[in-house]
Amino acid sequence: MAGNRTLTIIKPDAFNSGKGGPIIAHLEKAGFKFVAARVMRLTEAQATAFYAVHRERPFFAPLVRFMISGKCMPIVLERADAVAALRKAIGATDPAEAEAGTVRKLYAESKERNAIHASDSDENAEREANFFFAEADLV
Ligand code: ATP
Ligand code: MG
Repeated sequence: MAGNRTLTIIKPDAFNSGKGGPIIAHLEKAGFKFVAARVMRLTEAQATAFYAVHRERPFFAPLVRFMISGKCMPIVLERADAVAALRKAIGATDPAEAEAGTVRKLYAESKERNAIHASDSDENAEREANFFFAEADLV
């Protein structure tokens, strides 16, 4: 994706408490264009596969339960330097440590229920976009 795309997920805590709209507006103000989006409830198999890198961590089982607890919104976003720009816009994993004005500072409840996911590299952005979207959705 040549460094200009990334994947976000508006997580179930935020999506199901009316924060999807404000978060989308926040991302648009941060300069992101929307390439593809869907509303879905992850299966346990999908959540397990998506966060497989964390499968040995103590927070893994509760993380999977949280991610399948309601609908979420995966979105492919586009702008210059997309991965770094989105990580900056969402803030630290724990909202208590997130900078003022970031999505997690504004909308997250806790380190687990932290409102939003963002890809952490161009390679993972491409892998994660293909996890949720067909090739034809990503033109
Ligand atoms: P994400 O990958 O969702 O964008 P991140 O890259 O900021 O978040 P990771 O370390 O990849 O953070 O952790 C993935 C997710 O697992 C976090 O967003 C959070 O929901 C959950 N998580 C991470 N660490 C903890 C923890 N110590 N306790 C509870 N949940 C955690
Ligand atoms: Mg991560």
